[in-house]
Amino acid sequence: MRIGLGYDIHRLEAGRPMMIGGVEVPYEAGPVGHSDGDALLHAVCDAMLGGAGLGDIGEHFPDTDAKYKDYRSAKFVEAVLKMVTEKGLRISNVDADVYLEKPKLGALKKEIRRNLAGLLGLPVDRISVKARTMEGLGPIGESRAYAAQVGMILLEASDKV
Ligand code: MG
Repeated sequence: MRIGLGYDIHRLEAGRPMMIGGVEVPYEAGPVGHSDGDALLHAVCDAMLGGAGLGDIGEHFPDTDAKYKDYRSAKFVEAVLKMVTEKGLRISNVDADVYLEKPKLGALKKEIRRNLAGLLGLPVDRISVKARTMEGLGPIGESRAYAAQVGMILLEASDKV
């Protein structure tokens, strides 16, 4: 069994699409990034890469590469999943925390879970998405940024668990 961890934070800017786990959430601002800035998907990628011992997202998709300008982060997930699968590993489960003050994710958490499940090829009950505010504290609390933290377990593809 291998454990993968990922964390990412992006600044929020008015008028950008608010991308969380590949879902565009209705809001007045969204993450700034070289790609679409989807901090949750970036944390998912880093957790996969970390668990597989394959480095980090910046090594594989450098933000100096024009190819990744405004890139859809779902495509990073697709590419990283392929690397992990080719290494003979599969994901057992994903537990994600999304840190943001606004908007309240509420029912959208279900949609984000479903979307992550689809991207990772897993049943929805193997994906957890939790939302937390920062009680008004710091850049996230002041709605100047959103962050995500992901933990996952990877197994050898042949394991029966
Ligand atoms: Mg990022």
